[in-house]
Amino acid sequence: RMGRLRGRLAGSNSAMGKGLLGILSAGTLDEAVWEEVEDTLLGADLGVEATTELVDNLRSRVKAEGAPAPEQLEGWLHEELLKLVDPSMDRRIAASRVGDRPAVVMVVGVNGTGKTTTVGKLARVLVAEDKQVVLGAADTFRAAAADQLETWGARVGVPTVRSQREGADPAAVAFDAVKDAHESEADVVIIDTAGRLHNKVGLMDELAKVKRVIEKRSPIDECILVLDATTGQNGMRQAEVFAKAVNITGVALTKLDGTAKGGIVVLVQRELGVPVKLVGLGEGADDLAPFDPKAFVDAVLD
Ligand code: GDP
Repeated sequence: RMGRLRGRLAGSNSAMGKGLLGILSAGTLDEAVWEEVEDTLLGADLGVEATTELVDNLRSRVKAEGAPAPEQLEGWLHEELLKLVDPSMDRRIAASRVGDRPAVVMVVGVNGTGKTTTVGKLARVLVAEDKQVVLGAADTFRAAAADQLETWGARVGVPTVRSQREGADPAAVAFDAVKDAHESEADVVIIDTAGRLHNKVGLMDELAKVKRVIEKRSPIDECILVLDATTGQNGMRQAEVFAKAVNITGVALTKLDGTAKGGIVVLVQRELGVPVKLVGLGEGADDLAPFDPKAFVDAVLD
């Protein structure tokens, strides 16, 4: 399964890697070449800071060790890209019981980014690890959202706590889901939340309240922000808004199958200071994978 996902990632992201290899192996490493490298990295949404750092590192290496032989080039790029992706970050999802209580995972993000799908896929991954999972449908703004989550729950074989009433208090539903998970001695409860962007202030207040009310019953172990990789810099602006309302502990980057802008991984981690923990690589139930920095860089350079 990982092999298949890697293939999908490579297909979309290797444009950046191939571009870099092509540019750097074309001839003398002069200013024009470095500028072209910078353009390629910026075009892949790596951001100005990381782009500058990567190019500076490569230039210093050329200065210290001489221009790389063609067969060294890929190795160099691999090392430098991996440094940026930062393999030292802890990317595990807190989904095991903590003492005598379930782990609590809150999932936030703008509508349409793939939030509900990601919750469903994550539940599936955890069930496959023999975990007992409860879902909470705290997006009460649209009845369809709770229906969608419940469908995922049924598919994966886990209970979904929801309200039948559209417009019910999302914090109350979240609280009930956490309570249910405590009572049924589940390993983990995953709370899906609303993400309507047109009412930013209301939404942020609502999320802060959901957080506060959950915390009356139980600490929150993980708050995953779902970001659509295809939205690039725009997605980053959304991320900052969410980071103000809740305490983000990791990012699920969706739709990475549909973009060559894999640099967003680096940008997100730098701007938010938290790791990308999960990547969405398609619409299917199995298309969610833990983010693996080395496999990611391999795919970029494949
Ligand atoms: P929500 O409004 O944020 O809860 O978004 P949904 O979970 O309803 O997903 C919105 C759309 O994005 C659906 O059509 C999903 O199938 C699709 N989607 C979610 N994740 C991925 C992914 O990783 N890759 C692709 N290609 N599509 C995805």
